[in-house]
Amino acid sequence: MTSNATYRPPPYSDAWREYRMLVRSKWRAVLLFFLGTLPSGLLLQLVARGVFGRDWSEAHRDILILLAGAPWLAYAGYWLSRVGVWRCPRCEKPFFVGRWYADHFSRHCVNCGLQKWSES
Ligand SMILES: [Zn+2]
Repeated sequence: MTSNATYRPPPYSDAWREYRMLVRSKWRAVLLFFLGTLPSGLLLQLVARGVFGRDWSEAHRDILILLAGAPWLAYAGYWLSRVGVWRCPRCEKPFFVGRWYADHFSRHCVNCGLQKWSES
């Protein structure tokens, strides 16, 4: 016999759900960076060819691809930084950034030792 009125989710479940969403967004942004840079660079080169001519667009192809990749890189960097500064649900300090170092592959909070995915 169970009752929904007495059910309480584990105290950190919302925090882990948020962390999972951030990690998925990070990987989505990294994938978009790799998949989006080349097509948008080629599109930018086509536009530049129409505006500035073929010789100019061929001579500046590398710069155009870099310019096209910059927004994708900024988008990926935003999500990477969001994951990097994500706060521990127990101590509320950055989970991966300690006082003197950062470990972005840590399986526990570098400040209080809470295991990743721990429910309490
Ligand atoms: Zn902590």
